[in-house]
Amino acid sequence: MEIVPGVHQIPNTRWSRVYLIEDERLTLVDAGLPWGVKKIVDYIRSIGRHEEEVDTVLMTHSHPDHSSGVPPIRKLTGAGILAHAHDTKSDAANGVSLSYMGLFGSTSLPIPFLQRAPVKQVIEEGEVLPIQGGVRVIHTPGHTPGSVCFLLEDEGVLFSGDTIFSNGSGVSRSVPFPGYNRDDYRRSLERLAEFEFDVLCGGHGRALSGGASDKFRDLLAARPEPPTWGDMLKSMPQRILGGKSLSGEQH
Ligand SMILES: [Zn+2]
Ligand SMILES: [Zn+2]
Repeated sequence: MEIVPGVHQIPNTRWSRVYLIEDERLTLVDAGLPWGVKKIVDYIRSIGRHEEEVDTVLMTHSHPDHSSGVPPIRKLTGAGILAHAHDTKSDAANGVSLSYMGLFGSTSLPIPFLQRAPVKQVIEEGEVLPIQGGVRVIHTPGHTPGSVCFLLEDEGVLFSGDTIFSNGSGVSRSVPFPGYNRDDYRRSLERLAEFEFDVLCGGHGRALSGGASDKFRDLLAARPEPPTWGDMLKSMPQRILGGKSLSGEQH
């Protein structure tokens, strides 16, 4: 489904979200899980394009629910993978690969989650990639060391990975996972609040259209401290009953 002209969410990918930027060539934001790849191909064909037009996959971070679809997508499309250095590892034999805690993305064997995913280009804070009028790279460490948000500047669309989420109407934050750094995360949120974005496309949940950066700043003003696992557990009943976010936040 098209969120704004030229920006699509691949429908029916389970668990994590995959987005498509439609330009002369095609760009994916994240790759999802291996069994979602057919859905990506089907959707691309449904809008009259072809998977071989996918040049680039922009990685918000290397968690396996966002990155384990990379090997099959590379095989089908030949796309180059772009990621921040802090969510990669490099060695003399294999070059640069996506990596989460040195465990995922470490073998050439065709095993989902463990299969090595080569990185074509390491991206840096402040870079503007030549995709649909310019995609700004904002390094937002915290959820993982190499987490990045991508801002489609002309359209005001932020692809936020697992740094912030929305449920279609409100904005929420991440809870700690192994590899999470709370101080980095807090600083990254403050930086992210300096940018203007109308539309928020998170790594989970539903895209939020309209006034997204204002809602995000309201959330930080109302609750400056990022949520904890305790907050998450406390909110469990409402989440089950009321479809709240993982952290229990909804702003
Ligand atoms: Zn994640
Ligand atoms: Zn995730």
